[in-house]
Amino acid sequence: MRETLEKLLALQELNKEIEQACGDRDKLSIDVRNQARKLERKRRQAREAHDKRMENAKGADAAQLNIEQAEQEIERLVMQLNAVRNQRELDTIQNTIRSRQADISRWEDEALTALQAVDELRQEEEQLNREAEEAEKELERIKEHVAEATRQYEQRIEELTEQRDRLRDEIPPEVLSSYDRLAARHSNALARVKGRVCRGCFTRITKQTENLLMRDKKVVYCHSCGRMLMLAE
Ligand SMILES: [Zn+2]
Repeated sequence: MRETLEKLLALQELNKEIEQACGDRDKLSIDVRNQARKLERKRRQAREAHDKRMENAKGADAAQLNIEQAEQEIERLVMQLNAVRNQRELDTIQNTIRSRQADISRWEDEALTALQAVDELRQEEEQLNREAEEAEKELERIKEHVAEATRQYEQRIEELTEQRDRLRDEIPPEVLSSYDRLAARHSNALARVKGRVCRGCFTRITKQTENLLMRDKKVVYCHSCGRMLMLAE
């Protein structure tokens, strides 16, 4: 019995190792996803900066056009000043000119603000594009690394699986199927007993259970957790 239990223990360790390797392999793709997200974020931010820059450039152009039209209007009004016939007419024209000049001053401020924003956004966009380019290169590097690491994990998993299959062939089928049933419910379905304590559930085993274990004639189970038991050395 002892020999079978030793093999089961080795099988248990192998299963754990395979599970660990599969988990590690699956975790590799997280790095790829994170980097792809980072790249997408940089590209989106660059697009947003671009759109905002275009909007500001349009705003500056519109303000410039308004200024030109107002300047032309002022010129016309100045010409009309030569032909005024009375004070009321003069006041009206002068008021209109002052009002247009105030408009121009406002549009000039608007245009200046917009042009400054265009400059800043251009720099921001260029910076973001450089960062996106870097992120893309990094993504390629990560992908290559992940592909290589995945290949190594898969090779390792294949070796371990073959080893496990060979080991399973050496274990009596009835013991193996009992073990498999338990393993579906418990991690460490085979538990060691040390100091008369089941290391699966940390419950003290009875003297009778201990005797059965020492006799080593059949599979013995923990009365508390149901795990298969084996005596520690
Ligand atoms: Zn137990």
